[in-house]
Amino acid sequence: MTNVFLGLGGNMGDRREMMRSAVAGIRRVLDDVAVSSLYESAAWGVTEQPAFLNAVARGRTSLEPVELLDAMQAIEHDLGRVRERHWGPRVIDIDILLYGSEVINEPRLQVPHPYMSQRGFVLRPLADLAAGLTLPDGSLVGELLTTVDQNDLRRIEGPGWADPSHD
Ligand code: AMP
Repeated sequence: MTNVFLGLGGNMGDRREMMRSAVAGIRRVLDDVAVSSLYESAAWGVTEQPAFLNAVARGRTSLEPVELLDAMQAIEHDLGRVRERHWGPRVIDIDILLYGSEVINEPRLQVPHPYMSQRGFVLRPLADLAAGLTLPDGSLVGELLTTVDQNDLRRIEGPGWADPSHD
């Protein structure tokens, strides 16, 4: 079993419900799922669109990395992801941030996720779950967090937002 971290984001429709549905889907794929607080961030790259909700989930899996990517893309697809333009609005986006301590550079999959070390909306929720985690390049999540801009990021709900018992 490998410990994996997933980054979740969405800025369309009922954003909180979409994020909750994504976590429900992730619980069906991974074991021992834990979820960060829920954050809201201003849109990145393209600014004339609704703010994103962001969170990070951790779990354990025996799936190979590309199988995990397939499973996450199936969840995105089920939730009716609309892909009109790069960095444009989408119902839900699930990125594989970390797969154990592996470094993967394949056409379909780069892990650690290439931009994760520069994004407050990834590092802040990741630090909720694993501030002491070391990335494959030796950097510490809690230290990386001090180097990124968090001005457009706010915590809107504690970790219970995705509890199945709240359904
Ligand atoms: P986007 O949803 O815009 O982040 O991009 C989706 C594409 O990124 C998919 O076609 C994946 O094959 C590719 N990709 C590369 N690395 C990753 C990763 N670590 N997690 C998720 N998707 C990835």
